[in-house]
This record gives sequence, C-alpha cells and structure tokens, in this order.
Amino acid sequence: MSLGEFELIARHFTRPVRRAALGVGDDCALLSLTPGQQLATSTDLLIEGRHFLSTVAPERLGHKALAVNLSDLAACGARPLAFTLSLALPQAEEAWLAGFARGLFALADAHGCELVGGDTTRGPLAINVSIFGEVPAGQALLRSGARPGDELYVSGRLGDARLALEVFRGTVSLPGEAFERVRIAMECPQPRVALGLALRGVASSAIDLSDGLLGDLGHVLQLSGCGARLEVDAVPRSAELAAQPLALQRLCTLAGGDDYELLFTAPAAQRQAVAHAAQAAGVPVSRIGCIEAEPGLRLMDAQGQPLPNTWTSFDHFRT
Ligand code: ADP
Ligand code: MG
Repeated sequence: MSLGEFELIARHFTRPVRRAALGVGDDCALLSLTPGQQLATSTDLLIEGRHFLSTVAPERLGHKALAVNLSDLAACGARPLAFTLSLALPQAEEAWLAGFARGLFALADAHGCELVGGDTTRGPLAINVSIFGEVPAGQALLRSGARPGDELYVSGRLGDARLALEVFRGTVSLPGEAFERVRIAMECPQPRVALGLALRGVASSAIDLSDGLLGDLGHVLQLSGCGARLEVDAVPRSAELAAQPLALQRLCTLAGGDDYELLFTAPAAQRQAVAHAAQAAGVPVSRIGCIEAEPGLRLMDAQGQPLPNTWTSFDHFRT
C-alpha cells in the first residue's frame, strides 16, 4: 500500500510545534518575531540532474536542501527561525522519505530551525526550501558594503565540491578514501550560520559562495561599486585538492561552485575582531585579498605576478 499525500506529510514532515505560533496543518503557518528584528527570507530550488545527482543518499539530500538555505541566512548574519518544504516526488517511497527527513531534521535541529509548512505533489524529483530568519534591524550583512581598503576573507576551504563533481564526471580519479572526503563536501555542506552571526558589526559585506568564488565576488564588487585584488594561490584548499595539478586547483577554488562558505570583507582595523569571530564560530577564515577603488578584479599568483582571468563561474543559462 503506498502512502497518500496527507499520510506522507503527517508521517514524515509533521512534528510538534516548538517556537512557531502555528506549524504544519493549516493554510498558513504563523511565526512570532522578536520586536526590533527584521525578517530575513530566502528560497532555493533543487532539481535532480541539475543541482544533485541521482546517486546521492536521501539523507544527504535532505541535509543539503536545508543547508543551502541556511547558508543564505548565514551570509546575511541572520538567526534561523523556520522553513517550509515543497516537494515534487516521482513516488511516495517510504525508505527514501524516512532518509530524507532524517537528514533534513538533523540539520534543522542543530540550528533550532523548524519546519512549519510546505507543499507536496507528484512529479519529477524537485525540492524547494524557503527559509525565515531574523536579524536586528539595520544589522544584516549585505553584498553592497565593501569599501576600498577593506580586506577580503573566505571561510573554510574551497573547491572540494567541484573536485568531487569532476570525479563523478570521470575527468579526475581519486583513491576511495579521498573521494569520500570530497564527496561529503559536495553532498553535506556545513552552513556557516555561527560565523555569519559573529560577523555582525565586524564584516562590511558578505555573500555565501554557491556559484564559484570569482562570480560571487563579482556580485559583491558590482553592488559595492569597487574592485579587488585577489591572491589566487592564497585561497584555502584541502590536502586532496592541493595534490592535484595547479590548473585544476585553481579551477576548483576559483570557479568551483557549491562551496557554501562565506566570502566577506572587513576594514583592516577589524582584523582582530575577525579572528575572534572565526574562533567563536569554530571555523577557520583566510585573508585572500583586498578591496580597491579601481573597478575590476585583479588576480595575482603566489609571486605577486598578474594572472589572466580565464575562468567562468556557474550560470544555469550559460553553462
Ligand atoms: P493547501 O492546499 O492549503 O496548500 P495542503 O493540503 O497542500 O494545503 O497542505 C496541508 C498542510 O500540510 C499545510 O499546512 C502545508 O503547509 C503542509 N505541508 C504540505 N506539504 C508539506 C511538506 N512537504 N512539509 C511540511 N508541511 C507540508
Ligand atoms: Mg498544497
């Protein structure tokens, strides 16, 4: 006997309400906001074959669907409150749903973010999460706040998700253990929520890296009306990636995509505060360049020599 729509929702996606005024089951969910806070909201759509491979375990997919949205809240310095989940499923498969829900709720619980509603329909596998968070009025981290003289930072390490994708594509081969490590970066990104919160009042701008460092940095520069100098080989990478040819390392770190790390800027006078924020959040951050008044992006190698920018970052309608 297969599961009906409402049994499916009741069994897998309905839990006791915690913080919300009203959760799953009515026409709308209701959230009470703390006075003086702004609502931060974001949404991401994941389509099989485009955002994830059919080989991904359902538990990891549940994790990732929420992680990419939490990463958007992190980039704004917002505290997660709640999310909705819309699912198109080819069939109501019990084991798949249980695994998906397990991965989803494990991450949701880790961030105190509750599922308050959604929509469920039959169709080619697609997952949409909309997320809601709050941030003190006027304190959200924006893409538009970078200023000449600011220093440029990135959290964690970049490029492993792209390296894993290249293994799946068959252009790179890695020993089993190394592959498992980079595959986790691709399938289970860790949203930098604590870092985003700690950077409020410290960072001048922030963005989360989803399409590749160069493209995402381009958004910050455009909205901030300035340029930057980027030390290409200072971009942090894993031992697995550092063992690859330099051209592949640069491709993966600069134009990899799916990193879900934070790229942010801060005035030089905030260097100590940035270090404290990183320590408080338990996430390493690296200084990779600086913001300049002259528009455009200037890439430098380890010897300080200019490098031509030959990389293209991800664009759904161009790549
Ligand atoms: P409506 O027809 O008013 O949109 P639905 O019948 O689609 O409501 O959904 C019934 C309830 O179940 C609603 O409260 C909706 O938010 C919730 N819901 C539907 N799908 C999901 C899901 N995948 N996860 C969580 N809640 C869901
Ligand atoms: Mg509905």
